Amino acid sequence: MVKFFGKPVYKGIAVGPVLVMKKGDEQVKRSKIENPEEEIRKVDQAVEMAQEQLQKLYDKAVTEVGETSAAIFEVHQMMLEDEDYLDAIYNIIRTETVNAEYAVAVTGDNFSEMFAGMDDEYMKARAADVKDISNRLIQCLGGGDENDFAFREPSIVLAEDLSPSETVQMDKNKILAFVTVHGSANSHTSILARMMNIPALIGVPMDLDKIQNGMKAVVDGFQGEVILEPNEFACREAENKIAKEQEKLRLLQDLKGKDNVTKSGKKINVYANIGGVGDVGYVLENDAGGIGLFRSEFLYLGREDFPSEEEQLQAYRQVLQTMGERKVIIRTLDIGADKQVDYFNLGKEENPALGYRAIRICLKQPDIFKTQLRALFRASVHGNLSIMYPMITSTEEVQRIYEIVEEVKQELEAEQILFKLPEQGIMIETPAAVMVSDELAQMVDFFSVGTNDLTQYTLAVDRQNEKLDDFYNPHHKAILRMIQMVIDNAHKYGKWAGICGELGADLELTEEFVKMGIDELSVSPSMILQLRRRIRELDV
Ligand code: PEP
Ligand code: MG
Repeated sequence: MVKFFGKPVYKGIAVGPVLVMKKGDEQVKRSKIENPEEEIRKVDQAVEMAQEQLQKLYDKAVTEVGETSAAIFEVHQMMLEDEDYLDAIYNIIRTETVNAEYAVAVTGDNFSEMFAGMDDEYMKARAADVKDISNRLIQCLGGGDENDFAFREPSIVLAEDLSPSETVQMDKNKILAFVTVHGSANSHTSILARMMNIPALIGVPMDLDKIQNGMKAVVDGFQGEVILEPNEFACREAENKIAKEQEKLRLLQDLKGKDNVTKSGKKINVYANIGGVGDVGYVLENDAGGIGLFRSEFLYLGREDFPSEEEQLQAYRQVLQTMGERKVIIRTLDIGADKQVDYFNLGKEENPALGYRAIRICLKQPDIFKTQLRALFRASVHGNLSIMYPMITSTEEVQRIYEIVEEVKQELEAEQILFKLPEQGIMIETPAAVMVSDELAQMVDFFSVGTNDLTQYTLAVDRQNEKLDDFYNPHHKAILRMIQMVIDNAHKYGKWAGICGELGADLELTEEFVKMGIDELSVSPSMILQLRRRIRELDV
């Protein structure tokens, strides 16, 4: 039995086998071989194994996300049959007498460079596919030990670090807990763990090379502890804690259907934050009054190309129809910083958090923005939709957004497509937006304070930098005063103000927020009922 300690980002207990996530594009070693034909046979076997995996993934995706989105796995299957691709691999093995893994890696790099250099946008996007199938083939050559959750029992995921796109692709039903060696408590991966209601620890100093898949472990998100190969006593203790947690959750269930009203009669809207259509189940399960932040950029992550207008329309409509009359606030895409997507070709930046991201991309590349707006306006007829724009710093940006909105309206009208203009708000997550919130309040329907970024930009603390977690203090007076200023300015012009950053779920501050006059708090679904209980205790 060995214990490790780290920082909890979501409290909870899990017991189960571990699954070590390896990065797909680890360096492949080149080695000389004796028998090229033997090596080629290995490649053929790996291709067969990869084809089977892709078929299973395709079948699973068809039932979960529909045929259009699943088609990518069919494309991968076809690419694996491509004669040029396979001949290139055989050729390297024969002429250089090198190992199969190396030949596949080199071929993958060459083909993906070739695709990336093409003019046609569709062909350009295939670069990532070739990389993907080559990585799959390399994994199959190593015995097929891939990080494929589709075929595994629920596991505790161990990784050096996880990006939001890796996290979003995982099958949530197969994850018992997340444990990472690196990572920051304020990153989107941590936020996703909270949203998924999964115990998660970061900054755990484990040597992953020494850990085998299938080893038993206990993750204690209350103590910030991971126990590898726990003894009988540790297992029993964990099982007891799980039972107690379940009992607490059962008690919270009594709050379902009750109002979020303080003893003094002040009603607060308690909404949920989600990352995708799949999270709506958690929203309903926890009885949220609406969705206060749908991070629509997650629709763009973990895929090879832009989601089309139709695909987006389908996703937004599904959420709206499921939520019925309840409000759904969809944030327009907030790509960039830690949420990187290859096909956006954003390039490397010195300071990505201060860089080309969110509304800046939308204003500079209005075609991307317009596709999303069209899908949103069309979806709007199916429910109670509001939209909000991220990373606003000025009234000029809002003005420019409204010009684009006007163009989209006129285009839809000209095409005689049914749509409805939703309520439009902005996120307040830069100090600049706070300081001009009196002017912004006159232009928009509502404010939603993004405390995660507001803290990062106000305190000059990178929210992704694990070394700075101790300096990242959203309770700082500067932040609290800013929130007060934003609420006051919203109310002055008859608008409402909410918080959708993680601070909204901080029960130590609920009383203060209510005193400040907050109208709405949007939190992870798992926090809804706890927040309701806190609000109902207050007498302010
Ligand atoms: C925020 O910045 O507080 C926010 C809600 O947006 P995100 O965490 O997605 O940047
Ligand atoms: Mg933000």
